[in-house]
Amino acid sequence: MGASDGDSATWLAGGRHGASRLATLIPTALHGMAAGITERNGPIPSGGPASVAASLAAAGGTKRLPKTGIGAEQALEHYSTLLAAGTADPADPSCAAHLHCPPLAVSVAADVVAAAMNPSMDSWDQAPMASELEAEFLTGIAHLCFPANPTADAVVTSGGTESNLLGLLLARETTASTIRPVCGANSHHSVSRAAWLLGLPAPVVVPCQDDRMIPEALAEALAPLGASAVVVATAGTTNTGRIDPLGEIARICRLSGARLHVDAAYGGLLLCSQSLAPRIAGLELADSVALDMHKFGWQPVAAGLFAARNAADLSALTVRAEYLNADDDTEAGLPDLLGRSIRTSRRPDAFRMAVTVRALGTQGLGALVERCCTTATEVNELVERHPALQSWGKPELSTVVFRPRGADDDLVARVRRTLLEAGTAVIGRGALPTGPDGTSQLWLKLTLLHPHTTAEDYVELLDRVVATAAAERGVPAPQSPVAS
Ligand SMILES: *Cc1c(COP(=O)(O)O)cnc(C)c1O
Repeated sequence: MGASDGDSATWLAGGRHGASRLATLIPTALHGMAAGITERNGPIPSGGPASVAASLAAAGGTKRLPKTGIGAEQALEHYSTLLAAGTADPADPSCAAHLHCPPLAVSVAADVVAAAMNPSMDSWDQAPMASELEAEFLTGIAHLCFPANPTADAVVTSGGTESNLLGLLLARETTASTIRPVCGANSHHSVSRAAWLLGLPAPVVVPCQDDRMIPEALAEALAPLGASAVVVATAGTTNTGRIDPLGEIARICRLSGARLHVDAAYGGLLLCSQSLAPRIAGLELADSVALDMHKFGWQPVAAGLFAARNAADLSALTVRAEYLNADDDTEAGLPDLLGRSIRTSRRPDAFRMAVTVRALGTQGLGALVERCCTTATEVNELVERHPALQSWGKPELSTVVFRPRGADDDLVARVRRTLLEAGTAVIGRGALPTGPDGTSQLWLKLTLLHPHTTAEDYVELLDRVVATAAAERGVPAPQSPVAS
């Protein structure tokens, strides 16, 4: 059978003709994608959910699975156009709400090959080179996190959520008594969810100042718990990008015998930058670390990593299944992959991460992280100079938190939704405490993960926020101090 024989919808991506068949279909998909991007005039389709639903209905949405197919070319072109036209595109600087990065083309290209070869990471006989590449990459990640610990190891996860679950799971499995999670008021929601999933008591919540855990308050919380506690600190909070004082927290944990897991899903890749790494100093003192390469790292979702200072802790994940890792196979030298995850079938996400690091080096990745952090500092300066805007504080990573001066929470929320509905900007929101009494205030945030923008690219966006706030209040917009 030749490269273009038969119904193209039944072609296989692998095998002798796989590459040439993909080379036939991929241009069609990309053609559709390019058309969709042209259709969209901003970072997200305008008109909100109703308009997106209407586009799909107009395109022949049936609400039932189609009984007859339209063929590979038409389906690919049609759906690729729909997706690209209706996407929230983080490669547009105005799409900056979440820790939602624009993936690097090199990683996406690598993922095409990974998907075509489809190694499944649950047994060596499904993934010989993929598992070898993964192991090598993970040794590198373990060394990046714990340079002084040759016994460190790392595994791939679906993201910070799964990594935080593993952090608490390993704490539970390596501690004799009932483990008690302790986390900052600034911690990610997945920490208390992990405690719930694992049947652990709800976390003891340590108060924060400026979105950072207060060390004295942690020491106080640990006093009655001692070695039965597992502390979760955050290196890069979701709301503001603040970094907990990791060194001090690690010292307090040592003194009380508590385990320490650092949620560095956002800030972990600062390790790649010589100038920024000192900001997360103390990370290497943790027992385990969560880091996400689908934030800084510019990978498509999912690209989560979990590093353990002591590889032996990961043996808690060991499990036997006769059909995947029989004892005699393992004894005969076949690597046991099943114990490297809580999942069974697993995509080779490490492949595109490894290709990316091979292409850029950690130095190249670090330079991109630096760009984002510099841009955030500069955008915050624009906010500080703008008479109609108020800054929450200086960015520690790449999150700029601000609000229109004099706005109440309702206006802040409406400004965000108005811009979203218009399709002109995707801005985040966060309720931040105003004091120790539990009251909070709503702020807007830009999470800057676009590695090729400068502050200049956000001038118009800030002016738009000001103009929208003025329009919502029914007053004329003040002039921009920057553009004028
Ligand atoms: C993103 C993030 C998470 C959740 O990670 P997922 O990859 O979405 O599962 C957890 N903690 C922090 C601090 C994060 O920034």
